[in-house]
Amino acid sequence: MSSVLVALDRLWRLMQRRLALFAALAGAVLLHAGRLDPVNPLGPRWPALVALACLAAVLAWRVIAGWPEHASLMSTQLQRAELGLLLLVLVHGLVQLAGGPRSVAQPLVYVTVIFLVGFNARPTAAFLTLAALALQLLLAGALVGRGAVAWPELLWRGGSLLGFALASALFLQLEVLVRRREHERRLAEEVRAMRDEARDFRLVRASLSSGQVQDRAQEEAKLARGALDSIHHSMYFVLDSLKRSLDLQTCVLLWLDAGGRQLRIKEMISDSNLVQETPIPAQVGALGGVVKNRLLLNLRSPRLGARGVPYYEGAERVGAFAGVPVLENGHLRGVLCADRRDERPFTPQDEQLLLQATEQVLRAIQTERALAAVERSKYEHERFHRASTLLNAALTLEQVYSTAFAAAREVALFDLAAITLYDPERRRHTICRVEETTPSAGGEPGAEAPARAAGRNARLQGVEFGENTGLVAMAVKNKHFLPAGGELREGEMPVFTRKLDLRGVRSLIVMPLIVKDQAVGTFTLAAKAPQLYPKHTREMLGVITNQVAVAIENAKMYARMEELATTDGLTALPNHRTFQARFAEMLARAERHGKPVSLVLSDVDKFKGINDTYGHPVGDQVLRRVAATLAAHARKVDLVARYGGEEFAIVLEETGSSGAHLLCERVRQAIAAEVLSSDKGNFGVTISLGVATYPEDGVRKEQLIERADQALYQAKHGGRNRTVCYGELRRPSPVALPSAAADRSSAGPRAPAEALLALARPR
Ligand code: GH3
Ligand code: MG
Ligand code: MG
Repeated sequence: MSSVLVALDRLWRLMQRRLALFAALAGAVLLHAGRLDPVNPLGPRWPALVALACLAAVLAWRVIAGWPEHASLMSTQLQRAELGLLLLVLVHGLVQLAGGPRSVAQPLVYVTVIFLVGFNARPTAAFLTLAALALQLLLAGALVGRGAVAWPELLWRGGSLLGFALASALFLQLEVLVRRREHERRLAEEVRAMRDEARDFRLVRASLSSGQVQDRAQEEAKLARGALDSIHHSMYFVLDSLKRSLDLQTCVLLWLDAGGRQLRIKEMISDSNLVQETPIPAQVGALGGVVKNRLLLNLRSPRLGARGVPYYEGAERVGAFAGVPVLENGHLRGVLCADRRDERPFTPQDEQLLLQATEQVLRAIQTERALAAVERSKYEHERFHRASTLLNAALTLEQVYSTAFAAAREVALFDLAAITLYDPERRRHTICRVEETTPSAGGEPGAEAPARAAGRNARLQGVEFGENTGLVAMAVKNKHFLPAGGELREGEMPVFTRKLDLRGVRSLIVMPLIVKDQAVGTFTLAAKAPQLYPKHTREMLGVITNQVAVAIENAKMYARMEELATTDGLTALPNHRTFQARFAEMLARAERHGKPVSLVLSDVDKFKGINDTYGHPVGDQVLRRVAATLAAHARKVDLVARYGGEEFAIVLEETGSSGAHLLCERVRQAIAAEVLSSDKGNFGVTISLGVATYPEDGVRKEQLIERADQALYQAKHGGRNRTVCYGELRRPSPVALPSAAADRSSAGPRAPAEALLALARPR
């Protein structure tokens, strides 16, 4: 009983939540049943009207009540779909009531579809279009049955509906596209205008606007924006004070463009509506005089237009005019203009005030310029610090190379960077690593395709060249960066060799990597843009290069230390410690993949005798030969290690005992066939081998080592120069076997008693 109540309750809640959907479905059922058709045009229509009114009420309530503010996108789309469906049903109901699809009300369906497609996300719009089609079919199906509508008409109607929906969606997409383009264009224009202005005031450096490194450009833009705001604020204040104290009609600061051809309004305060914002030719008329002579101009009743006061576009009344040149260190930056309506002339005191105002404007600009420079250098130093930290953390050569490029990128732009190392013994340079900045999708026009850049990378990397007249070789020889100004001139020496030309490079710097007063290689940066490596950038790069040099030396030292710690000095094979670690890894891998792995322990037969007869150095020689033969017979994936003394270990991955036995025999025969020479004549040497295989002979590392050792003991016991697999020992009647180690070590047995017992116990 209670479960029925719970079910009813759930249904009720569902109805409440999905009321619009249920109403739409109910409406659709009524439509299909023909309940909304005007069967008898003269009969009562009120039941149909009431039904439609109910649907409309649900729709209105849902729309007005809205949906929860924090609804997810998905649930919002669902609700929109439900409401859209309800609206479609309602409209179809109205059309039916008005006389069906052939009535004048039919276009209402098309308008509704256009509306719904326009206001909904693509999936919802598609769903609603299909729903509208389905409703049309639903209605028409009944009519076709009654012979009221023919199929061609039905097709035409469905087609038009789809056409309207598609046209609406297409139109909407186009509209969005056009608006976005327009928005992007405006944004780009604003940024460009701001950058131009910042350059007018010399707040930013030209080289940084290449747009190559996004965040640097953004940082510069942020800096410039702040500085520009402050400058305009100061200018406005100065002009406003002038206007008030000198009783001016207009006070305007005109700024000279880079070419010195045009003057543009930078700041202005005026009572006139006739001031024009277009650029003014700088060499013409009264203002032309100020620009040319750099002298103050004071006029009474001046003419208007290009020859007189050029910044009004209509017939403004001007009684007196003064133009003051804005001079910074002897360079003309602009003209400060002031005019009055009445004919009161500008007095010498007024002129003095105007001159002081130009100084104040310049001071504001200079202050901002200095502040911007401080900010920039702070920013650059932060990046520089970050670069140093990166390099300090690099331990391997690989890490040093990649962090060297990342560090350089923190302080300079480049299209190509390379690290070369110099081998003084062979007198050869090697290009160890190359990195290229692949142009982004929005890169500059004409930028190189990534595939081609990658091709050049492959072409440069690993290339060797001798001591030539290239810049790299010269920088190493002279221990000084090249070329002198950080610019590559026409006909300059090649960077690496003549064969490897770097086409189109205009900025270049080859810095020697110096360690203990010796140049060990170079760090080279190259770019197509000009003037990327001015003095202060070179200085920072110089410090980074020193760090790279030290980091390379450190990495080499770490590598040497690592090698010393893991390899055996006499045979250059991995040592006992490495064997233990790598055998554990190989076992774990075998366990994971369910594959066998075999361990071989081998021991040189009667080695003490060789030492005694031929001497210790010859003994060492024998060990090296045996090691080399073992290594030559193993596969790349296998591990050959010096286990200790004249004992060697081989771990064979994915190899069962028969495979291991086969390899052991091959190696044993190869060693037995070798002829060794000494002062006391030629001699030969043999080895004995013992094999234990995972998982059949044991699963733990120690267990396998013990069992291989026992097999080796058996090989010695059985007459030496042979291979014994542990599996073979299990077959004959078990006897307690001492280990080979027990026999070899004067300190007593090395194999634990437990292992011996294990062997003695019948399995
Ligand atoms: P077998 O193994 O056949 O029973 O006889 P063996 O003579 O080889 O026996 P043992 O294992 O007792 O001898 C090992 C000798 O190897 C003792 C040690 O002086 C010598 N040895 C160990 N390490 C080196 C080494 O690095 N160089 C040289 N020349 N000799 C070494
Ligand atoms: Mg031994
Ligand atoms: Mg031996």
